[in-house]
Amino acid sequence: MSNIFIISAPSGCGKTSLVRDISRIYDFLELTISCTTRKMRKGEIDGIDYHFVDQATFKAKINNREFIEHELVYDNYYGTTYNSIRNIVNSGNDAILEIDHKGMIKIKKQIPSAISIYILPPTLKELKNRLIDRGLDTKEVINKRISNAENELKFSRFSDFTIVNDDYDIALSSLKSLILYQKIFQNTTISRLNSYFESC
Ligand code: 5GP
Repeated sequence: MSNIFIISAPSGCGKTSLVRDISRIYDFLELTISCTTRKMRKGEIDGIDYHFVDQATFKAKINNREFIEHELVYDNYYGTTYNSIRNIVNSGNDAILEIDHKGMIKIKKQIPSAISIYILPPTLKELKNRLIDRGLDTKEVINKRISNAENELKFSRFSDFTIVNDDYDIALSSLKSLILYQKIFQNTTISRLNSYFESC
């Protein structure tokens, strides 16, 4: 049986790097590709980072009930399709989703066995410094992201696990251990143990 891992965090907490690195480390993990109406950033590739679509296409997907969840995040639509998860699970891999806190809660409601992991910044001050350093957003957007982060962080208590990204290597090790633990735990269910002993 496959696992579904949902990773969420306010912007600037290192979530994208953690998800990218963990997907490289564990080849059983496959990242779902969301749809978005946001403009492509420099270096991003359509179909790899996101499926970049226009509003009309996104709305048609909503009407066709293609999304397990979708949200308006910073004035752009983002959504996870049922198919993006189904295809991974059907291939026997574990799915890893990098989505916002509202999407995390919606998916947990529909798939309670999904494992939600919330990445926290050491402090809000540090988060602001990181957003400035990465240089992706205007000052106005950074201030908006910070005030949203204060609110978003409260949602961490609804996740199954939290990881504080103070030291990146330690945060990545924690994520590695957590995912491996879930994998071992799941493979040690009674039914699997029974079939193991039956085959001995
Ligand atoms: P960015 O534009 O920086 O790539 O992403 C903005 C926010 O949207 C991030 O918090 C990201 O995790 C979130 N996001 C990306 N894909 C999805 C999705 O499919 N659903 C939801 N709810 N949020 C998403």
